[in-house]
Amino acid sequence: MADGFDLKPTQTPKLASEREAILKGNLGFGRVFTENMVKIRYAEGAWQRGELVPYGPITLDPAASVLHYGQAIFEGFKAYRQPDGGLATFRPAANGKRFAASAARLAMPALPVEVFVDASDVLLQSEDAWVPSGVGQSMYLRPLMIATEAALGVKPAKEYVFLLFGSPSGDYFPNGVKPISLWLCTDYVRAAPGGTGEAKCAGNYAASLVAQQKAIDEGCVQVIWLDAVERKYVEEMGGMNLFFVYKDGAGHKLVTPQLTGTLLAGVTRDSLLKLAADLGYGIEEKMVSVQDWEQGLKDGSLVEVFACGTAAVITPVGEVKFDGGKWDINGGEFGPHARKLRESLLAIQYGQAPDTHGWMHRVP
Ligand SMILES: *Cc1c(COP(=O)(O)O)cnc(C)c1O
Repeated sequence: MADGFDLKPTQTPKLASEREAILKGNLGFGRVFTENMVKIRYAEGAWQRGELVPYGPITLDPAASVLHYGQAIFEGFKAYRQPDGGLATFRPAANGKRFAASAARLAMPALPVEVFVDASDVLLQSEDAWVPSGVGQSMYLRPLMIATEAALGVKPAKEYVFLLFGSPSGDYFPNGVKPISLWLCTDYVRAAPGGTGEAKCAGNYAASLVAQQKAIDEGCVQVIWLDAVERKYVEEMGGMNLFFVYKDGAGHKLVTPQLTGTLLAGVTRDSLLKLAADLGYGIEEKMVSVQDWEQGLKDGSLVEVFACGTAAVITPVGEVKFDGGKWDINGGEFGPHARKLRESLLAIQYGQAPDTHGWMHRVP
């Protein structure tokens, strides 16, 4: 597996005691990075041999096309310490596939899915000691690809670099899961039909930040995006997909906005749809309007709303604010359905429950 990679260990490895002190500290999310990273260059029409190199700043020509025309994509997935001390990543091939799809949308070369997964194995074998093992802790993996060719003509670049680095991460909710407040954004859109909403590209985030700031100014943590055409259907949150829990006869049903081409197809979203079906929930992917949401809260059929994504797994939504009002959801509490689904998925990820879908990839 490591055959396609040149392994050059870090020049000045941190002392074990130094590393232990960092891992015992407040890791938070995406603030601590490990000592090495994987780098694969694309040139002359082909991916070159992968390298394991010291983590650190990269140099770019000021004319590098990513700095001007924004060919930049990324991914996010996690490695979890298993009960036997080994490591496993959650559905890395699903992220690899999405990375290739994002590349295609931005006219960038696809990195083969096997190379993507091998790159994460190589990184984790090298950085194993950096993967924390505490409750709720994990190693967040961040792959990215940028256009590095120095050329100002507007066209797909001919040279790229793929990088993959790791960030030991703490429990997303160290003080217990807390429902969040969301801002219903009606003046900006995240993605339009035919645009890049389905791709995990940097530009989607750049375009979203002004609305994100507005949400923060309104006392919320994130934005709810509506469809660009009618401004009527709920699509997703800033970096997470949304689920609605409805009463359904004697049981409950999970509804999530259908993938119309303008939503990002979350791996967590897909996993929860399968897990919920296993747990006996009805599941439905369909268009959900703002009006449906309000009506469900009014008539009591909509009992919980939650967001999902790799970083936090499941985050309950306690409140929605908008110009001229707000809705409370489930009394602002962390409800039993979000709790059950969250715990079930985490149990699989930490190797405490059977992996019946073959989602866990053991790092060799
Ligand atoms: C990454 C991302 C998600 C969540 O995807 P996961 O694969 O579940 O982590 C949702 N929405 C957007 C916009 C994203 O970028």
